[in-house]
Amino acid sequence: MALSKNEIEGNFKDLHKPLNPQQALEESDRCLYCYDAPCIQACPTSIDIPTFIHQIRSDNSKGAALTILAENIMGGSCARVCPTEVLCQEACVLNTSHQQAVEIGLLQRHAVDELMEKSSQYPFQRAESTGKTIAIIGAGPAGLSCAHRLALLGHDVTIYEAKDKAGGLNEYGLAQYKMTDDYAQREVDFIKKIGGISIKNNQKLGVSISLEALKESYDAVFIGIGLTSTYSLGLENEQLLGVEDAVDFIERIRQSQDKSKLKVGKNVVVIGAGNTAIDAAVQAKKLGAKNVSLVYRRGQEHMSATQYEINLAKSNDIIIKTWSAPIKIKGKKKVKAVKFAQTKIKDKTLQMTNKSYQIKTDHLLKAIGQKLDNSSLATLKTDKGKITVDENYQTSSAGVFAGGDAIQSGEDLTVQAVEDGKQAAIAIDKYLNGEG
Ligand code: SF4
Repeated sequence: MALSKNEIEGNFKDLHKPLNPQQALEESDRCLYCYDAPCIQACPTSIDIPTFIHQIRSDNSKGAALTILAENIMGGSCARVCPTEVLCQEACVLNTSHQQAVEIGLLQRHAVDELMEKSSQYPFQRAESTGKTIAIIGAGPAGLSCAHRLALLGHDVTIYEAKDKAGGLNEYGLAQYKMTDDYAQREVDFIKKIGGISIKNNQKLGVSISLEALKESYDAVFIGIGLTSTYSLGLENEQLLGVEDAVDFIERIRQSQDKSKLKVGKNVVVIGAGNTAIDAAVQAKKLGAKNVSLVYRRGQEHMSATQYEINLAKSNDIIIKTWSAPIKIKGKKKVKAVKFAQTKIKDKTLQMTNKSYQIKTDHLLKAIGQKLDNSSLATLKTDKGKITVDENYQTSSAGVFAGGDAIQSGEDLTVQAVEDGKQAAIAIDKYLNGEG
């Protein structure tokens, strides 16, 4: 039976309840305020975690928010989407005494939300204008973080964004229940409040703008375009009705005003093993799909999704099938079934066996990864499908910098993109001052 509008709305509510002031006070009291705190080492943006937790405990959540935002201007969204269980919270010393780690993510969210909601004064002030101008391509976490730091240092920034809203993956690419209440846009507005940042939407690289023209017109360029091309399965019938890229499915959900009107299959199959695959599978179920199977060609232990995400999928009745590779998509106009070959590791390589099975489906979601679209970046050196940068985030073209998922810098995480943007901005500032 189809779910009602109210049921669907309820299914997409915030996954984590925010802490109230009393809960924040009690949770902050559990922190040991460690010297040489391992949680700081585990944070890609090096937020001084014990200090901000101490500030919350001293009833100074504004000070706590400033400690966070000084290192990570997107501390509010990172608090919602960071896999804290494999970053700061995994490193928390309380784990070693079999206690639950301090809820660093929830405390971070509490402090930043308090500031964004209650403070009338903007907490940062720009340096005197330098007269320098920088073009940023892409208004995702890397581009926004870079823009804020450059604006803080007194430069003027213009961001060119391909889509009609800024925010990148925060706006278009995450499960709705991870970031609710239009938070991505509220954060963009907060970042822009510093001044000196203008965002031009619907400006696609290679269509309405070119790298060469931006290089001519600005003192420096930063590329933060992320990974916008999707891989295909390489099978016949991928164009059948009902076959969709998981990222498009997630975007449809995030941009919809009324989720009860969204189309979802009855028997959904998701192919993939990362957090995007899980976001798609869980949301399909929350929209009312009867059966959702997530199929992966290797074992569960090889899945790139975090254990937390895998548990979330299981608790939402997603059937996880491993050691299975798709070999045929069946159907005429519309997808009807997918045939899988069972796989195994032999001689250290993944091989298909001659055993196979099929799953009936009317909605096949492909979540097998994304890659850099470098069709308009041919003048830049790339390595393993990503833009090559030096230790100062500078590409093979002088004055052109890059960061985020488009380069190789640790995990493809929002928090890493924010750090890349920040560090690239510092490097651009030095370059413009003749120091780099
Ligand atoms: Fe607090 Fe845990 Fe960090 Fe220690 S490791 S400072 S207990 S959050």
